[in-house]
Amino acid sequence: MTQVTAGAERQPDNPYEMALAQFDAVADRLGLDDGLCQVLRTCKRELIVRFPVKMDDGSIRVFTGYRICHNETRGPAKGGLRFNLAVSLDEVRALAMWMTWKCAVANLPYGGAKGGVEVDPRTLSEGELERLTRRYTTEISRFIGPERDIPAPDMGTDARAMAWIMDTYSMHHGYSVPGVVTGKPVSVGGSSGRFEATGRGVLFTTQEACRHLGIPLEGATVAVQGFGNVGGVASRLLCQAGARVVAVSDSRCGVHNAQALDVDAIWDFKRAGGSLTDFPGGDRITNEELLTLPVDILIPAALEAQIHDGNAAAVRARLLVEGANGPVTPKADLILSEKGVFVVPDIVSNAGGVIVSYFEWVQDLQSFFWEESEVNQRLHQLIVRSFQEVLACAEREKVRLREAAYMLGVSRVAEAVRVRGIYP
Ligand code: NAD
Repeated sequence: MTQVTAGAERQPDNPYEMALAQFDAVADRLGLDDGLCQVLRTCKRELIVRFPVKMDDGSIRVFTGYRICHNETRGPAKGGLRFNLAVSLDEVRALAMWMTWKCAVANLPYGGAKGGVEVDPRTLSEGELERLTRRYTTEISRFIGPERDIPAPDMGTDARAMAWIMDTYSMHHGYSVPGVVTGKPVSVGGSSGRFEATGRGVLFTTQEACRHLGIPLEGATVAVQGFGNVGGVASRLLCQAGARVVAVSDSRCGVHNAQALDVDAIWDFKRAGGSLTDFPGGDRITNEELLTLPVDILIPAALEAQIHDGNAAAVRARLLVEGANGPVTPKADLILSEKGVFVVPDIVSNAGGVIVSYFEWVQDLQSFFWEESEVNQRLHQLIVRSFQEVLACAEREKVRLREAAYMLGVSRVAEAVRVRGIYP
């Protein structure tokens, strides 16, 4: 039986080193010259801000935030904003780089960026969170904008935070600038379907992968790590599509029912502020146990580096669809490949969010809004096209889907750098 290394015995993989290792392998395969490699593996702009926030009890706390633009050769930089205690410079760099390739794979006219604040948002009151978000926005406001760098929600941030960003930026400019941020509430220029977009994209890519592998989605068993925007929505949509979601988790623990969980009940329970530790309908399992359950489909949708060389050999799913960014380390990727696990990489499977963010930005710029059915249908069209292009490349080049996705994304950005040339 395969041993699983306990989290405490191993150092977490550095996400930026992961991102660079993935890039270097692909650059080698594409035969990119050294100069071009230097351009593509470097983040163009790295902003670190330290800013004070007045707390409810009258005290002042200083927070650290980041906004990093990796590359903007193909268009304005695009990427989420993360509020999490584990946020670090290297994490944000990696996430920014992944955004560049993700936008290129989906063929969106964007570069890649990411932001973060070192904070556990659950420990702040709504007023403290609002003041923190507005002050962070002010600190980075010279570097964001609809033509420059467009934030969006990520872990720990939501539509409400995007409304505060849009309002703060607009106040500084003296007029409303809805296109500065995506993932906003529909009432202030958000797009219908944006909230569910990443989870829906995970559903669409899972459907395509199942079709390719000959796995009927109807009745297939699924385990989902993370029950937030991505994991929670994906779980619900997969249930609606006939799959059996047998395990889900949050940061504290997981719940398991070998037949099927009542995902809608879990959704309502979490929305009411509950933790899975107290959810009555299933057996308690750890996050580590969830990852190695005997299921057809595994969807890690929480944090990066959750499947590593210490536990990859114990994964028993046939299909792994990455909902989170970077949930599988490069070493684990090789182990999964040797085991014959079919992995749909993040830059394909979780691109639904940025694709509908692109639609939101387009709608904001035109002040012309679409029906949700049109948003979902266009999302399906773009993400299926992206999956099929990556699959075709993988079959042509005889590589894994992740390598194919990187080859496609990196080569598109490299081509844009070549065509634009190096200024002056
Ligand atoms: P979220 O904050 O809505 O949800 C995160 C979930 O993960 C929560 O259920 C949380 O309890 C759980 N979690 C946190 N730490 C955990 C841990 N150590 N073990 C297990 N579960 C843990 O965040 P989200 O927006 O759903 O983002 C999840 C992932 O998906 C991130 O990697 C993010 O970068 C990526 N992503 C998000 C979007 C988007 O549109 N929201 C788009 C693309 C990628």
